[in-house]
Amino acid sequence: MHNIDIDLVEMTLDVMKYAINRITTTNPELGTPKPQQELKKIVGETVTPKGIGGEKAFQLFKDVLIKATVPIDHPRHLAFVPASPTRSAVMFDLVTSASSIHGAYWMEGAGGIFCENEAMNWLVSLTGLPEGAFGVFTSGGTAANLSAMVTAREYWRTRNKGKKKIRGLVVTSEGAHSSVKAMAKVIDAEVMLVETEDKLKGDQLYKTIKGLDEDQRNRLFAVVATGGTTNAGIIDELNEIADVCEKENLWFHVDAAYGGGALAADSVKHLFKGIERADSITIDPHKWLFSPYDCGAVIYKKPELAKKAHAQEGSYLDIFNDEGAQGFNPADYQIQLTRRVRGLPLWFSLAMHGTDKYKWAIEKGMQLAQIAGELIEEYPHVELVRQPSLSCVLFRRKGWTSGDYLKWTYKNHRDGFALVTPTKWKKNNQYETVSRFCFINPDTTENDIKAILETMK
Ligand SMILES: *Cc1c(COP(=O)(O)O)cnc(C)c1O
Repeated sequence: MHNIDIDLVEMTLDVMKYAINRITTTNPELGTPKPQQELKKIVGETVTPKGIGGEKAFQLFKDVLIKATVPIDHPRHLAFVPASPTRSAVMFDLVTSASSIHGAYWMEGAGGIFCENEAMNWLVSLTGLPEGAFGVFTSGGTAANLSAMVTAREYWRTRNKGKKKIRGLVVTSEGAHSSVKAMAKVIDAEVMLVETEDKLKGDQLYKTIKGLDEDQRNRLFAVVATGGTTNAGIIDELNEIADVCEKENLWFHVDAAYGGGALAADSVKHLFKGIERADSITIDPHKWLFSPYDCGAVIYKKPELAKKAHAQEGSYLDIFNDEGAQGFNPADYQIQLTRRVRGLPLWFSLAMHGTDKYKWAIEKGMQLAQIAGELIEEYPHVELVRQPSLSCVLFRRKGWTSGDYLKWTYKNHRDGFALVTPTKWKKNNQYETVSRFCFINPDTTENDIKAILETMK
């Protein structure tokens, strides 16, 4: 299986050719999913005792399977949080795989982890956290949020020895990402939601905490604020929330998985004031920092607290006495042991392009949101639900029901034209179905936006 033969060389060239083509295509075909049975009928058995051969498997992938996926870097893919990895980052993702680096420990991964840490230094500098703060790359925002919550709870328990067995409580807002609730389940913590999808403010949070009964207050250990809600790009009042957390002695986590990239943008950096006071921060480079999937990051004000929570012990791990092996061990700061050096593509792309290019590309996403906002105000058939925030735009098609939005979404998708999905927006305790743009890709144009709005006529 591992012998180098002519077939393998040819296969490698084929794969590289495909990768180069795909990386240089700015307008990839917008595929659509097909039912599992239908795909199976077309491709037949692919995993067999003798193998079907690389050529055939690759052909099936290119002809059938890739067409049943949606390229998230398509310039008219404006649903969810899209992505737009730089070509250099994607290329280096291939290099990362080819290099077979174990990213858990400095002993094995030093050179790769060094690169990751160079990129991490820049990320940390964007947050304004004090000297000593540092972080680690994770599989995504979900794993980053989980790693931060585990650290927060461990810290709380070590400070309050009596609290070993009681169930923790986290306060966040309705605007928080679903992963906060999901990961609270993993650590069996209760979540209390402040009832607002809009900006969470200090007084609301304070009122919520004061409204807890004695048992709840005794169990409360962390507040999760959002630095750019996924639905609407709203940044909570981080400075006010930091005040409350300080006063109440609570862990302050900022989930900036989507919005964190905007810390690099001078035009909006001030909106994040207070993030420099966080105990931990989540930022997803695979969202607004142009990294390929998957790459998240968790940053701690005091990384040693994360180490206390996450470092694994085992006789088979006890081998790090050599001088060269003394260094930063990513496994100590998040939930994974064996890990890909998934910050490596980001490092290469940053090193190649420079951070100014990143600033430019992030500002471009916000400019596109402003342009979309202006167009929506000009067209008579649509209107803004709220002013664009970061790179998110919520808008409605006058007179449409939720069914109309879905039909429109499916039609544009089926036509291979665009993927823009509806969402819900809560106002006065009522949920309304509206449409939403989220801009990440700097290759999206004003004409793309116009053309999409035209399809709503
Ligand atoms: C996307 C997102 C997450 C989850 O991140 P994944 O990388 O998808 O795991 C968490 N929080 C926020 C605010 C997000 O936008």
